[in-house]
Amino acid sequence: MARYRDAKCRLCRREGQKLFLKGARCFTDKCAIERRNYPPGQHGLNRGKLTPYGIQLREKQKAKRIYGVLESQFRKYFQWAEREKGVTGENLLRLLELRLDNVVHRLGFAASRRESRQMVAHGHFAVNGRKASVPSMLLKVGDVVQLRPTSKMAARLDDNVNAGRGQLPQWLEIEPNERKGVVRSLPLREDIQIPVSEQLIVELYSK
Ligand code: SF4
Repeated sequence: MARYRDAKCRLCRREGQKLFLKGARCFTDKCAIERRNYPPGQHGLNRGKLTPYGIQLREKQKAKRIYGVLESQFRKYFQWAEREKGVTGENLLRLLELRLDNVVHRLGFAASRRESRQMVAHGHFAVNGRKASVPSMLLKVGDVVQLRPTSKMAARLDDNVNAGRGQLPQWLEIEPNERKGVVRSLPLREDIQIPVSEQLIVELYSK
C-alpha cells in the first residue's frame, strides 16, 4: 500500500491553500499556510503564471492530496467514473467520498484522513459487523461503520467526535454513543465541500 510519506504541509503550500491534512494543527497558527503561504523550494517565491494545463494539473494534484490517493489509483477512479452514468467529475468525487477512510474521517471519528487511514489499516473498524482494514474499500448505501469492541481507540475516537471540527454531511448518520455511522445515501456534489473544480480534472484526463 504505497502512500506519500514526505512533509504534509508542503502539499498545502504547493497548492496555496489549506488542505487540512494534519488534524488539530491545521486549526492553529502553527499551520504552514498561516506562516509561509508560498510554494516550497528554492524558487517557491519566483514561480511564474500558470498555463491552462498547469491549472488543470494543480486541480488534479489537489484532489489527490486531499484524499491521500496516488496517481495510478486516482486514474483508476477516473476511468471508473467515466464508465458510470452521469457527470464524470461528480462520479469521480463520489467514488472518492465513499472510500472507507474518508467516511471514517467525515463521521468525525478521526481528526484527519491520514489518521482515519491508519485506524482503518490497523483493523479498528468493522463494516456491517465484519472487520474491514482496507482504507480504499468503497461503501454502499446502508453500510454501517463501527469501531470494533476490542479496539483500544475508543477514547481517541470520542475525543475526535467531541472536538467536532467538521460538519457531518447529510448523506451520513452518526450514533456517537455506539461509535457507529451509517451511509444514508450517495453523496451529491453539493454535499462534497472540497475546494476542487472536478471539471478541470476531467479536461486534463481527456486530452
Ligand atoms: Fe496544511 Fe494542516 Fe499543514 Fe496547515 S497545518 S499546511 S492545513 S497540513
